[in-house]
Amino acid sequence: MRFVVTPPAPVSVPVVGTEDRFPIRRVYCVGRNYEEHAKEMGFTGREPPFFFLKPADAIVVVDAGSTGSMAYPSLTHNLHHEIELVVAVGTGGKNIQAADAHQHIFGYAVGLDMTRRDLQNEMKKQGRPWCIGKGFDQSAPIGPITPVAQAGDIDNAEIYLQVGGQDRQRSHVSKLIWNIAETIAHLSAAWELQPGDLIYTGTPEGVAAVVAGDTMTGGVTGLESLSVKVV
Ligand code: MN
Repeated sequence: MRFVVTPPAPVSVPVVGTEDRFPIRRVYCVGRNYEEHAKEMGFTGREPPFFFLKPADAIVVVDAGSTGSMAYPSLTHNLHHEIELVVAVGTGGKNIQAADAHQHIFGYAVGLDMTRRDLQNEMKKQGRPWCIGKGFDQSAPIGPITPVAQAGDIDNAEIYLQVGGQDRQRSHVSKLIWNIAETIAHLSAAWELQPGDLIYTGTPEGVAAVVAGDTMTGGVTGLESLSVKVV
């Protein structure tokens, strides 16, 4: 087959304990999925989950034990970190029941939903799409994927982010408003999930700005940690 321009390189993430890689199809994200973060964003109460997407090539792959880098993005003066548990979908489906959801999970990783908060807030105010605030280049750093069997009790894991060694975010996955199974149920009612999809499940409270030179280190108990320097 001949293409009229060079096809984009496939995006993939390393899998812990193997040379094999997990190919990325889509990157789904859940908004405001921890109560204390919803409050700091000015919202209260349990609302139905809502979703947005990032381009697959917004992924920044960071290998185990190394520090990745992301460029400070254009147009913003308020780049925020959002540490998140990421679900890697291994088996697709639509209208998946929460009780069956875990059968569709290949594994888990630690990710950062980097956000141009000033642009996102402006788009919110104007009722416009969030793409420019959320879906920019290099907006989705991620560490290696740990297969489910090796990941431990993720639903009760601790999640944290430090900047320059100081705590910024620290919570537990058990505090998700919509847990992993419920999120998959809701998401698969709106889109048919496919192998290779990632789901950034939302961030706990403590989101704040980073600047060039900052190093963010985050983790979820049982998974490879993620370290990224803003350059
Ligand atoms: Mn987020």
